[in-house]
Amino acid sequence: MTDTNRNYVGGEWTDAETGETIDVHNPADTTTVVNSYQQSSAADAEEAVAAANEAADSWADTPAPQRGAILRETAGIIEDRKDELTELLVSEEGKTRSEAAPEVQRAIDIFYYYAEKAMDYGGTIKGASGGRRQVSTRKEPQGVAGLITPWNYPIAIPAWKIAPALATGNTVVIKPASVAPGPALELVRALDEAGVPDGVINVVTGPGSEVGDVFSTHDDIDVVSFTGSSEVGHHVYDAATEDVKRVQAEMGGKNPAVITSSADLEQALDIVEAGAFGVTGQACTATSRAIVHTDLYDEFVERITERAEAIDVGPGLEDPGMGPHVNQGELDSTLEYVDVAKTEGATHQTGGERVEGDLEDGYFVTPAVFSDVDPDMRLFREEVFGPVLAVTEAQDFDHAVELANDSEFGLSASVVTDDLAQANEFVDRVESGVVKVNEKSTGLELHVPFGGVKRTSTNTYREQGDAAIDFYTQTKTVYLND
Ligand code: NAP
Ligand code: MG
Repeated sequence: MTDTNRNYVGGEWTDAETGETIDVHNPADTTTVVNSYQQSSAADAEEAVAAANEAADSWADTPAPQRGAILRETAGIIEDRKDELTELLVSEEGKTRSEAAPEVQRAIDIFYYYAEKAMDYGGTIKGASGGRRQVSTRKEPQGVAGLITPWNYPIAIPAWKIAPALATGNTVVIKPASVAPGPALELVRALDEAGVPDGVINVVTGPGSEVGDVFSTHDDIDVVSFTGSSEVGHHVYDAATEDVKRVQAEMGGKNPAVITSSADLEQALDIVEAGAFGVTGQACTATSRAIVHTDLYDEFVERITERAEAIDVGPGLEDPGMGPHVNQGELDSTLEYVDVAKTEGATHQTGGERVEGDLEDGYFVTPAVFSDVDPDMRLFREEVFGPVLAVTEAQDFDHAVELANDSEFGLSASVVTDDLAQANEFVDRVESGVVKVNEKSTGLELHVPFGGVKRTSTNTYREQGDAAIDFYTQTKTVYLND
């Protein structure tokens, strides 16, 4: 067992008190165990919270530029290991090399970005209403941040929570998803090697119901940031707000791409194909509904079906067009949605079959397209989290916007159009945290806010960019008189 298969608590690599480990299998070949990690209990999680709490004052008092220097050093260490981390990510999570390498690069960029933010960290000074009084604001850390992350971006999401939390002077406990915890542990290893003080970052692997539950409810945790499914996220939110913690939870999506009558069909196909089938459809921002104007509908359905059929599915390390699902549960769920869609009367164009033969030991499924998907069908309403595209015909632009908004989710919406007025109107009317004109719904910039509306998000604070600085800090207003 290497250090990074252990928990990291109070500056030490430790074993779980249970003495048990969890095996992580390669999703492309489930006969292979990639790594084993600690199966920690609530008691292990509590130790980590205690370590973070003990380190909090001294880290908060560390000048922000010094905190930034550690983040910058960490970024460099990850950069040196980029290839190794890309392979680790692919062998635990399953996405292709071409998808994993930019994700690792994103983590590096995030650490560099918040290193600079820490240099630049301060407040405002304002004039006062009278006398020689000066009023100013300054930002202070919240204290201990409890972070809970999903498996689908197993390095980028931990990075976009850890880096701003540390830059602003919080200490951190993190619980990565049990399916692919390795990349998050590698971030922690890099922080350790960069000289982060003991207790400032702590990671504990183990079941969400035990470890995650402590991280979202413990009295000594001040802020909770969760990304994952809606079901777990709303539970975490309810538990954490009970004792008035600051919480953000970013959850599921059912993202639409609206194709208007003026759209360039080739561009629309590129955008929908990449959004729907990229990362095996396992993105919160995946395009899962194409809402297509009646003039383009038939040709769109025919051509997107051809595109789906041309995608080669295979092990991520061989860098095919699409990798496997992450585990049996996600594969079964996709296969079930395919059955449900057929039963509910959607037109099955292609795909949605488990891949047999050479690939039968992996969680492989072929990309699927359904047309004639009505708004009352489950395929239109529920997050599949797999490579299944629902295509729905819109009579006109208003109808398309209505369909796009007919969802309990609201994360990332795209519109493909050559009509500037309709683009602007879509931006105005769509109910979504992110909207993209002539761009796929997946893929984000790191320096602008990210988050959803409706059931996708708790709608408290956004992540990334300056929004993350706001989330992990509180403002103190100072009245200074001589
Ligand atoms: P998940 O099943 O909700 O798990 C997310 C995290 O919560 C994991 O670390 C999990 O631990 C932990 N957890 C489970 N039960 C818990 C509990 N009772 N208390 C506290 N923590 C608990 O989500 P996932 O399957 O990993 O990820 C897929 C989902 O994430 C999709 O719905 C996707 O849309 C969403 N997502 C959203 C965004 C966004 O920004 N909106 C980004 C990426 C993904 P275990 O792994 O040990 O179960
Ligand atoms: Mg899950």
